[in-house]
Amino acid sequence: MIVEPNAPLQSHNSFGIVAKARELVRVRGEQDLRDVLADPERGPAPKFVLGGGSNIVLTGDVRPLVLKMEIPGIRVVEDGPRATLVEAGAGVPWHDFVTWTLDHGHPGLENLALIPGSVGASPVQNVGAYGVEVQDRFESLDAMDLVTGRVFTLDAAQCAFGYRDSVFKHAPAQEGDFGLAGRAVILRVRFRLPKPWKPELGYLDLQRKMAESGVAQPTARDIYDWVCAIRSAKLPDPKVIGNAGSFFKNPTVSPEQCADIIAREPNIVHYPMPDGSVKLAAGWLIDACGWKGKTVGHAGVYEKQALVLVNRGGATGGEVVTLAKAIQTSVYERFGIRLEPEPVVV
Ligand SMILES: Cc1cc2nc3c(=O)[nH]c(=O)nc-3n(C[C@H](O)[C@H](O)[C@H](O)COP(=O)(O)OP(=O)(O)OC[C@H]3O[C@@H](n4cnc5c(N)ncnc54)[C@H](O)[C@@H]3O)c2cc1C
Repeated sequence: MIVEPNAPLQSHNSFGIVAKARELVRVRGEQDLRDVLADPERGPAPKFVLGGGSNIVLTGDVRPLVLKMEIPGIRVVEDGPRATLVEAGAGVPWHDFVTWTLDHGHPGLENLALIPGSVGASPVQNVGAYGVEVQDRFESLDAMDLVTGRVFTLDAAQCAFGYRDSVFKHAPAQEGDFGLAGRAVILRVRFRLPKPWKPELGYLDLQRKMAESGVAQPTARDIYDWVCAIRSAKLPDPKVIGNAGSFFKNPTVSPEQCADIIAREPNIVHYPMPDGSVKLAAGWLIDACGWKGKTVGHAGVYEKQALVLVNRGGATGGEVVTLAKAIQTSVYERFGIRLEPEPVVV
């Protein structure tokens, strides 16, 4: 077990916020976790599970014991006539995993290319992009209970996936409650990649790429390349400008609420959902309130995409949270809609 006291976290969070972990343990296998749990001091101590740090805002030094997930490994569990089952360790970088599956002839995750972070975190907020969510390809995962040390397996229903949501985002208020946040650490995840492969081209950006390229029947590799190109053009690279991707979830309203808003704001961007509700583009709401390109302290709103908050250099987590709150207030005052943040504030 590798333990690092006073570990700097700036390179472990995509916002690039300066903070330290009082103690960081590199988790390279299940045994490292067992050693932590067996330790008389570390065992009962509060813990924070860290993947790639691309969906967190650090508001100060982290007092709980940081478990930095570095469990490696990718393997094909089963290659059947109707699907390939692939498993990856929690510490495998997500994009490397997507690339590996394509390189090895197992398409199905190409729409999720270039999402930062780790495989272990991908079920936590049910990552999604360009018409595909992790839940669409998910088979099961193994996790360890951080109190008892018991390893257990969850299927998709048990993960309770929702839009940027799962059982891992909810903390149990009392024993027996729904919710595994802070209680379980994901060790490895299995994905079911269906055969025959079918392209997912529902998103306008992908349709544009298809038209531009003149490719009528794209391969999974074409879609992967297009997704990488679209994302690189739209989103700031965290290595250059600190950020955590989309800072707010797209809110969902009833058709009546939507009609009421359209009467006042005819240009509002909205998407009818299969369940009858209407999804609004959070980026549009923020832009309409005049936030795009603004700076408050050392934090700001990205010039090209109002949904992305950025570190202009030297931002603290407090400054990011203050900016996020100011945005929430103005969107609420103008539209009556409460924006919900996507990243976890630590
Ligand atoms: C530029 C950019 C673009 C992005 N685009 C998208 C996008 O298109 N779609 C999307 O859905 N997200 C997107 N994100 C958000 C982010 O990439 C995902 O949420 C990603 O899954 C986070 O992974 P991570 O390993 O960095 O998690 P972290 O930020 O380290 O952790 C996030 C949460 O998951 C928990 N966690 C992490 N690992 C584990 C584990 N093994 N077991 C239990 N809990 C764990 C942490 O405790 C924390 O609560 C983007 C982020 C950036 C910076």
